[in-house]
Amino acid sequence: MVIFLFNLIIVPWLAQRQIKDASYSKFLNDIDQGIVEKVQLDENQIVYQVKEDEEVKLFQTGKIDDPTLVSRLEEADINFAGTIQEQPNFLIQILLGYGVPILIFVLIGRMVRRNMMNRLGDSGLNIPGAQGAVTVYEPDEDTKTFADVAGQEEAKESLTEVIDFLNQPEKYEKVGARSPKGVLLVGPPGTGKTLMAKAVAGEANVPFFAISGSEFVEMFVGRGAAKVRELFEQAEKHAPCIVFIDEIDTIGKSRDNQMGSNDEREQTLNQLLTEMDGFEGNQGVVILAATNRPEVLDPALLRPGRFDRQVPMELPDLKGREDILKVHLRDVVTAEDIDHNLIARMTSGASGAQVANIVNEAAIRTVRDNREKVTTEDLVASIETVIAGAEKKNAILSDQEKKIVAYHEIGHALVAAKQTESAPVQKITIVPRTSGALGYVMQVEEDERSLVSKTEMLNQIAVLCAGRAAEEVVFGEITTGASNDIEKATSLVRQMITQYGMSDKFGMVNLAGQSSQYLGGEAQLNCSNETSHLVDLEVQKIIAEAFEDAKRILNENREQLDDLAAYLYEEETIPGKQFMEILAETESTA
Ligand code: ADP
Ligand code: MG
Ligand code: ZN
Repeated sequence: MVIFLFNLIIVPWLAQRQIKDASYSKFLNDIDQGIVEKVQLDENQIVYQVKEDEEVKLFQTGKIDDPTLVSRLEEADINFAGTIQEQPNFLIQILLGYGVPILIFVLIGRMVRRNMMNRLGDSGLNIPGAQGAVTVYEPDEDTKTFADVAGQEEAKESLTEVIDFLNQPEKYEKVGARSPKGVLLVGPPGTGKTLMAKAVAGEANVPFFAISGSEFVEMFVGRGAAKVRELFEQAEKHAPCIVFIDEIDTIGKSRDNQMGSNDEREQTLNQLLTEMDGFEGNQGVVILAATNRPEVLDPALLRPGRFDRQVPMELPDLKGREDILKVHLRDVVTAEDIDHNLIARMTSGASGAQVANIVNEAAIRTVRDNREKVTTEDLVASIETVIAGAEKKNAILSDQEKKIVAYHEIGHALVAAKQTESAPVQKITIVPRTSGALGYVMQVEEDERSLVSKTEMLNQIAVLCAGRAAEEVVFGEITTGASNDIEKATSLVRQMITQYGMSDKFGMVNLAGQSSQYLGGEAQLNCSNETSHLVDLEVQKIIAEAFEDAKRILNENREQLDDLAAYLYEEETIPGKQFMEILAETESTA
């Protein structure tokens, strides 16, 4: 800004007072006319001041060895000197040259200092003006309520007690019951933990202090602990209220299992533990916390009197997904005949956040197509986009490739259809996707499954093998198209053997431990090297059997395989219903 002002105001002002060039003869002429007021004889130039029509001008001209000049000037009675130093100019120069930069640095220095003070806070230094960054959220119209959280009935039930306590503490005091101090929401990402905490505050209509665990992690040692102290100070002032610590595992990690301890984090955690013990049960402060890694939390955090209640927030079931879908469809314009049940069945295993995302994708798709209402079809298409990526508009497949893909996909679908314990086929397509998939078969369960039998798992593996099996049966050659099938089949077989005890060879022995329950981390083998070698052999054996099984089914139904593949080649997409009809037709004629 300083430089800008300087250029805008001072430079033009100086320029106005510029000295103009003049010739020596003009100089002599001006003297003769008697309009010259002052002359300054410098070493190699002459600067003179002229007063013409009440206007003062400065001119300069080169110096000529002219001995008559002095007498000429005297004659004309002109004031002349060796130098006329413009004192003010000189001062301004010094000011601009030295003063301004110094001023700028002083200002920057002050800014940095203020920043430092804010960060240091009251960590013993007691610098005025440094306060923590805890925000108070007053309950307003916009807060969430339980109506915004679909499903999760068990969680709501446990939290209702907390709300009741916040609203009517007398009721509990009378009996001598102490309030729950801390409630820990645990569950996979996107199941609505953060949303639920907000809803609890909204339902209880009390102030809501939300802070994320990572906000306690600070550059300065001791600052995190100070923040915890500030947070609780504020909370106690506003009681009854709710303090919500999101992603608490950032600070609540167990203190002794880490290599290279982290002093700052430990201090923060210790401060949190102390604060939680510090306030009395009936003060009306309830602490909610959320995490998706409860297994890493310090045991001290979980003991009675701290976060002694754990409320699990699981992935929604069929009914739950249907409800979440309805909650989010409230905000978009939909056609009347949305098939909630179908969408819920198609999104098996999806979290609340994913369902919400699918609704949004569908709405965007509707806008893109210049339509006004979201239809079931939009929702299905956005599920496919989420599963398999968007359709690739201009992918070029050769004829032969397209034929192979058609046989591959029909292979999957046919084997699935011929099995009795397999999920019905919903859709078969060979439109290439941006994810790299050249086609896929979508199977959708009739209803929610909680248990999966061994037969069903083996069937699933056979279906996964069937794509490549079809290639081999028909073309006598295999392609790279099966890599994703192979990956899925292998991991499924591994789970069967190591986690579900479903192999004849090992029986009911756990051979792998899950590293993180809610984040779906890879299972780690926890057996000897010899056993792990045997597991590998067993995996190979089961997959080979499933592959043979798939080949047998395809060979037995070779005609249908050819017919359906030809049909898919032409149509590129077959809906599940049509697939079953064609299957039934060809069966009766065969
Ligand atoms: P988490 O904190 O468990 O990772 P969030 O609470 O941030 O998940 O949820 C993310 C979004 O997912 C929410 O804003 C909401 O739109 C949606 N969502 C998740 N679960 C539900 C649910 N049970 N009902 C309605 N919406 C949900
Ligand atoms: Mg969250
Ligand atoms: Zn495949």
